[in-house]
Amino acid sequence: MIRFGPAGNSDSFYEQGYNSSVQMPGWLKSMGLSAYEYQCGKGVKIKEPTARQMGEQAAVHDIFLSIHAPYYINLASEEREKREKSKGYIIQTLAAAAWMGAKRITVHPGSYGKVDKRWALDTAVQVLGEVLAEADAAGYSDIAICPETLGKINQLGSLEEVLELCKIDERLIPTIDFGHLHVRGLGCLNSAADFEAVFDKIEKVLGSYRLKHLHCHFSRIEFTSAGEKKHWTLDDVQFGPNFEPLAEVLYKRAMEPVIICESRDCMAEDALELKHIYEKEAGG
Ligand SMILES: [Zn+2]
Repeated sequence: MIRFGPAGNSDSFYEQGYNSSVQMPGWLKSMGLSAYEYQCGKGVKIKEPTARQMGEQAAVHDIFLSIHAPYYINLASEEREKREKSKGYIIQTLAAAAWMGAKRITVHPGSYGKVDKRWALDTAVQVLGEVLAEADAAGYSDIAICPETLGKINQLGSLEEVLELCKIDERLIPTIDFGHLHVRGLGCLNSAADFEAVFDKIEKVLGSYRLKHLHCHFSRIEFTSAGEKKHWTLDDVQFGPNFEPLAEVLYKRAMEPVIICESRDCMAEDALELKHIYEKEAGG
């Protein structure tokens, strides 16, 4: 099945008097959503009892859990020490995922810095391989690491680069952030054919199973010539991409991705709107 949910907690969650992410699975279920990406972008600070409680709630309410790993991970840093630390942050995120019963973690590959793009990708491939070996040794083999396509032109994270990273092991599932792809391409995703081309590329490199079960992020994003500037909401229609042509292709190809909405402030409400757009496509 296709699943929709938010990245983190909407403002309305707190405005309604809730205060703990443990309450999120029940809250999302009552809205009609079925996925939740817990945010560890600023560090993995969640404690084991909280993570376990959240996992229990997610199981009760059939919410698919994933975790966003820290933003400062850089698998392609020129400094060995920073690469080693980045490996540690991924393992920490996997540990939290194991407590929660989360099956996926989203990871930003890093940035080019002053190094050559090819060196950056080769280094990230090697470091990711080392992370997989450490994850196996620690007992986290069943949690998928999902390298994400990134929106800034100086970041390691084009579609082609993410596919190269995912090629090294079958358990790596790409996080396709359509907002990021759109802004990195300076507004390149507009028609159903544009989205089809993305899916064709993924299928060619990673095969049909991983294409069908993609991890996806979606939001409208403002951009400059350097790529990503700011996330907006679905109502901010002056910024792309539009979800309608993507929904058309998702339905046509009978895909079963997890779609995480990264709209600012109202991500849960917008995730529900994405679901409605998809259902309209499926019904019509
Ligand atoms: Zn991300």
